[in-house]
Amino acid sequence: MRADDPKLMRIEPPKLTLAERFFLPQIAEGLGVTGRHVVGVAFQKKAITVQYPEEQHVPSPNYRGVHRLNKDEHDRIKCVACMLCATACPAHCIDIVGASAPPSWPDREKYPESFVIDELRCIYCGMCEEACPVEAIELTGLYDLTGLSREQMIFDKTKLLSVFDATKDAEPMKYAAPPPGPAPETKMLPSPLD
Ligand code: SF4
Ligand code: SF4
Repeated sequence: MRADDPKLMRIEPPKLTLAERFFLPQIAEGLGVTGRHVVGVAFQKKAITVQYPEEQHVPSPNYRGVHRLNKDEHDRIKCVACMLCATACPAHCIDIVGASAPPSWPDREKYPESFVIDELRCIYCGMCEEACPVEAIELTGLYDLTGLSREQMIFDKTKLLSVFDATKDAEPMKYAAPPPGPAPETKMLPSPLD
């Protein structure tokens, strides 16, 4: 397109007032937000922080924290080593080695001999949970994930199953039928790394 083309539209930048040139409206708006928080904390006792670790933050129900591998009603790992989670994972941090299921497990052909997630590479997107056809992998509300080395943050099958044992009462399996009676109270549990 040429510079003198009649179809060319020229858009003039809006004329700014002196206050707008010095960003005064935006500064006033920002100070207003800060002021609202100060008033909320000082007079309405609306604290927006917690005194962690003495006070535990309770994340929202759809928070995506540390993974767990779920077990079925026979205390067996639910995973059938279909590899869908590893295929869906955008961070390529799931490594599974499948093997033939034991003869005493007639309901499946395969199970994961090894199941490893690199929790440091994970971006906690939840795609693995979405992809799993048997609800075997879930992200929990555990957020205080710490380790002294990179190796400690690579969770193997044993560790992922131990997260299930540590969280199953506070966080029932999302897609399982709810047990009869009132829902258990949601609360944070100690990290399995402690
Ligand atoms: S949460 Fe996302 S990045 Fe992490 S293991 Fe699952 S699919 Fe991969
Ligand atoms: S966790 Fe689910 S998606 Fe991943 S391999 Fe096991 S059964 Fe398949």
